Amino acid sequence: MTDHSKKHTHPGLSTLSIWGGELEHELYERSTQVPVVHSVSFAYKDIDTWHAVALEQAPGHIYSRNTNPTVRAFEDKVKELEGAEAATSFSSGMAAISNIFGTFLRPGDRVVSIKDSYGGTNKIFTSFLPPLNVDVMLCETVDYAAIEEEIAKGCTLLYLETPTNPTVKIIDIKRLAAAAKKVGALVVVDNTFATPINQNPLQLGADLVLHSASKYLGGHADALGGVACGNRDLIKMVYHYREINGATLSPMDAYSFIRGMKTLSLRVERQNQSAMTIARWLQNHPAVEQVNYPGLETHPHHDVAKAQMKGYGGMLSFAVKGGLDAIKVFLPKLQYAHMAANLGCVETVVGPPVTTSHVECTPEERAAAGIPEGLVRYSTGIEDVEDLVADLEQALSQLS
Ligand SMILES: *Cc1c(COP(=O)(O)O)cnc(C)c1O
Repeated sequence: MTDHSKKHTHPGLSTLSIWGGELEHELYERSTQVPVVHSVSFAYKDIDTWHAVALEQAPGHIYSRNTNPTVRAFEDKVKELEGAEAATSFSSGMAAISNIFGTFLRPGDRVVSIKDSYGGTNKIFTSFLPPLNVDVMLCETVDYAAIEEEIAKGCTLLYLETPTNPTVKIIDIKRLAAAAKKVGALVVVDNTFATPINQNPLQLGADLVLHSASKYLGGHADALGGVACGNRDLIKMVYHYREINGATLSPMDAYSFIRGMKTLSLRVERQNQSAMTIARWLQNHPAVEQVNYPGLETHPHHDVAKAQMKGYGGMLSFAVKGGLDAIKVFLPKLQYAHMAANLGCVETVVGPPVTTSHVECTPEERAAAGIPEGLVRYSTGIEDVEDLVADLEQALSQLS
C-alpha cells in the first residue's frame, strides 16, 4: 500500500488482516470482496498493451500460472502482515519450501539447519538434496555453539523453523541470522507455527519468511497453499522459478485464504490465550508428565520466546503417563477435537507424533528426538476454553 500507511501511523495487525492488499486492487463491478477470477488467461485488444504487460512494464496479468488477480490479493495481504516488500505464493507449504531451495541451491552448495524441522522439510534435507550434491548439516535444534560453528565453516543457506513441531522448541532467529550474515548465507525461516501475528522473522534478520497457508493463515482447514515473503529482488527470483516450475496457487484457494485471514488476528489472539490456560491446567494434572508450551515460565526457551514473539501461539504438546496405550484410550474420548494430522484451524486438532510428524521413525529414533511415545500434539482451536478444559478433564479421567 498505500496512502493509507503513509498518511497515518502504521495500521495494526487486525486492520491489516482485513484491509491488507485489498486497497490496491480495483474490484470487479464495485464488489466489496475480492472476486475469484477463474480465468487461465487474460485477453488484450491491442498488441502494444499486451506486450507491455508481458514485459512487466505495465500492470496486468497474462496467464494464471504466473499471476492472477485473486492470488495477487492474497500475496499482498500476507506481505503487509509480514512487513515485507514482496510476496509470492505456491500450491502448498511444501511447494514454497522446495521452490525456495530450487531457486537458490546449486551443486556444491551447503545448507545448515536443525534436526527438528517439519517432516516434509526434513525429508528434502535427508533424501532429495544430497543426490543433487547439496551438502546438508542438521544440527541439534538449540545447540547454538554447534550451529554457529557449522555456519562459520561456510554455508549458502541457513534454514530455521520456530516454534518447532511437536516439542515447540524456540530458536533465537536474531542470533543465528547474525552468524549467517557474516558468511553471506541466505536466512530462510518457516513461520507457519507462529503466524505473522506472533512473530515477524524479517524484522529479526531473516531474508525470506515462508508459511504453509494451509494452517493458521487459512485457518479453516479447507485450502492448501504456501507463501514466501522478502525483499523485491529475492521474491522476484523465487517467483520466476515457481512460474516455470508450475507450483501455482489456485484462485479458489487464494480466495479461501483471503476470507480466512480477515479473522487471523482475532483467531490467533484467542488461540494464544486458550493455549496458555490449557498448558497451565495440564501442568497440574496427575496423569500428565510433561507439558511443552513456550508461554510457560518453566519452558527452557521461555526467555527467547518472550523476546522475539508477540504471543506464544496455539500449539502445545504434552505427554500422558502410560505411553501409546494411554493415548489410544484418551484421545478418542475427546469430544471437541479432531484426531488428524493438520493444525492451526478453528477446531481443536490432536494427534500423537507417532501417527503424524514422526510416523516414519522407530520408537528409539523418537526417544532420541525427545519425543515420548505418550506425547500428544495439541492445536488449540477457538472453542470456549472452559469447554476445552472440561473435555480434557473428562478424557484424562478415563486413564486413572
Ligand atoms: C504443514 C507444514 C508445512 C507444509 O505445508 P503444506 O501446506 O502441508 O505443504 C511446512 N511447515 C510447517 C511448519 C508445517 O506445519
